[in-house]
Order: sequence, then C-alpha cells, then structure tokens
Amino acid sequence: MSISFRAAVLRTAGSPRPYARSRPLAIETVSLPAPGAGEVLVRIKAASLCHSDLSVVNGDRRWPLPIVPGHEAAGVVTEIGPEVASVAPGDRVALIFLTQCGRCARCVEGQPHLCERGTQANREGRLISGGPHLRAGAEAIHHHMGLSAFAEHALVSEASLVKIPHDLGFVEASLFGCAVMCGAGSALYSAAIRPGESVVVFGLGGVGLAAILGARSAGATRIIAVDSNPEKRPLALALGASDFVAGDGAAAAVRALVPQGVDAALDATGTVEAFEQALDCTRRGGRTVSTSLPEASRAFRFPLSRLVAEARAIRGSYIGSCVPSRDIPAFVGLYRQGRLPVDKLVSRTIGLEDINEAMDALADASVIRQVIAF
Ligand SMILES: [Zn+2]
Ligand SMILES: [Zn+2]
Repeated sequence: MSISFRAAVLRTAGSPRPYARSRPLAIETVSLPAPGAGEVLVRIKAASLCHSDLSVVNGDRRWPLPIVPGHEAAGVVTEIGPEVASVAPGDRVALIFLTQCGRCARCVEGQPHLCERGTQANREGRLISGGPHLRAGAEAIHHHMGLSAFAEHALVSEASLVKIPHDLGFVEASLFGCAVMCGAGSALYSAAIRPGESVVVFGLGGVGLAAILGARSAGATRIIAVDSNPEKRPLALALGASDFVAGDGAAAAVRALVPQGVDAALDATGTVEAFEQALDCTRRGGRTVSTSLPEASRAFRFPLSRLVAEARAIRGSYIGSCVPSRDIPAFVGLYRQGRLPVDKLVSRTIGLEDINEAMDALADASVIRQVIAF
C-alpha cells in the first residue's frame, strides 16, 4: 500500500537568496509505494543540513529535478520488502548516501565508497533497485543520493542503511552518515594520520570539525584549525585543535607555527583557493586531502615539478574512504566512549517548515549542523 507524507521538494535550482524569500524548497505532500525486493521504508526521525544540500539548491551541483534533497539522516524501519534480511521493523538506522551494491569491482575490492552501481543510480536520481518511486500526484520526483531525507519517510535500498543501537539519539545519529564519515574518515583513512603527526584542517563546518575529531583520535599532536570566522575558535579548541588561524594568508600563519610544513593538510572549505593554501602548508612528502565539492568547473593549480620533486600526495576523499557497515558502528562506539563528541557539531534543531531559512544560515556559514527533528 502506498503512503503519503510531507517532504521538501525542489523544482528549480539556482533560486536567488535569501531563500527565506524565494522559498526554493516547497513543503508538499508526496507518496511512496510499499517497499519492493531489497527495499526498506524508513520513518525519518532526524535529518541534518549539509553543504552538499545547499549545492543542490543553489545549482552548484546538478541533479535531476524535481528532487527531494537530504542525505544525512537517521530513522526507524517501518516496513521491509522481500529479500531484506539485515533489518526488521522497529530497528533504528543511520542512512548512507551511496548505496553499496556489494557486487561491482569497487565494492568487491573493499572500496564501497566508490560503488559503480550506486554512483550511477545517484546520478539518475533513483534507487539501485529502480525508480524514481517518489510521486507528487502523478508526477515523478527524483531521489537524492538514494535517500531524499528532507521528508517524513524515505524508501531506500537495504544497502543504504546501517543498524544503530536502540538507545542512540536520532539527532546525533543523523550526523554519522555524512559529517562524521566524511570528516573523521578523511583524517583516519584518506590522510592515514599517524600518532604524533602535525595536521592542518581548513574549513570548520560539520565535516572540518569532524576531521579535527578524527585527527585527534588518530593521535595527531598538533592540529591547526583554519577558518575565516574567528567565532569558531572556541569550538575548534574544545574539539581538540591546538591552534586556531583566522582569515586570509593562512598558509603563512601555519608555516610560522610549523616551519617545515605539516604532515597532512585536510581541506573541507568547498573553495579552490583554500585547497591551494592547504597544499602550500604541507611539508615535502606530505599528504593534502580534500573533501570539498566546489562548482564543477573550478580547477586548482599546482606546479607539477614540485609535486614530483617534493614527493607529495594529493588525494580526494569521498565518504572519508569509509566502509560504512564497518565504520558507522566503530564511530558510534567512539562517540559513546566520549572520544568522538559529534553531538557538539549540532548548532540547533529545526522543523521541516524552517528549511529555507536554514539554507540561508548554512550559506552564511553562521551555523555548523542544523538538524530537522521530526
Ligand atoms: Zn553531506
Ligand atoms: Zn558496488
């Protein structure tokens, strides 16, 4: 039987700011069919706003329209389709924004963050099992990254969720699928930070702050946080940064602190300019890793001779190079021991109807994570 519920639908990308006035996201009644083979219906309990959602709304990244955005969320399983074995109704789950098919070459070699079938389905705004299944009346609405979590319900592939403990709060749980894996994973896996290393983190949004947490749990002893907003200093230091650098000329300021350059630089700003600064403050033989997704045509410049002669590594980090079914339980364990305090990334909880105003706050970088609590 199909189910009807409220969702935030985007019909036109690139609407003018402020979004509070142009209201690109409309709260509409949409519907979903009962789950098919390998599919799970989830009642969304918390969904947080990530910069990637803003890039859907502002048109920096192109997705098929209309679409229901939202890719960082947690909820409760309400119904399962045939052949679903890993979850049952009543289970709490964190959602993953790239389905791991488990069969493609990348999945088989242990890199499900690069799943080929999941990537193709995401590009086409459907699930790996088919679709799109979302409807507004007779009109098909696309799924965002296999989830479309800015809604009271989501129909997802069984391989787009990970079971979480029954006593984990939904607001915190919502962060694990994107901010925590992308941020902490970029430090632990993509940059492979080792005990005693020096690290710089550019951009203190949810992903950048989670990267500080990851660098700390990896044993980095010097963690320099960089952000243009000096008001982020106290939170950065509270989460484990040893130093804070504000504003322009960050590379020179970092070089003043660590003259030979840092072992690893992590960029989570979303800008090419900051990535070039991050490259500039990495030592010979160091690693520079980015989780940024600026507008697709933006390219960075770096002298090839320096890349070679200084034996540098430059790496893009998608989903923190994580294996979600392994790493979400691991990160939840660290959180419960107080070693990965991801709850400190939550700036405020909001209602679904506040979503356009929340996009303005995100664009102003005046908040870390805003979580829609259903
Ligand atoms: Zn995200
Ligand atoms: Zn795959």
